[in-house]
Amino acid sequence: MGQIICRCGGRISTTGCPNKHEYVMIADTAHEKFVDQVVATVEGGVDAWLNVSVQLDRAGPPVFECPECKGLLVFWKESHSPTYYIRAPD
Ligand SMILES: [Zn+2]
Repeated sequence: MGQIICRCGGRISTTGCPNKHEYVMIADTAHEKFVDQVVATVEGGVDAWLNVSVQLDRAGPPVFECPECKGLLVFWKESHSPTYYIRAPD
């Protein structure tokens, strides 16, 4: 992707690791599975940890926060178009 243009015009970089605009959103049930895998891989070394890390990245939809409006852009079910969630005013 490289970058996403938010509805407000803000530019969101999708490159870099870690990416300060990207979040991981996972279901609580997937989180429990993840924790179990982390515990199981403590003795497995770096390769085992990298495998768990990749699974975590794929556990939920990619979520990006716009640095300008702080809205969230969620790519549900591998969609190429994000759904925009704008923060409600206080
Ligand atoms: Zn924005």
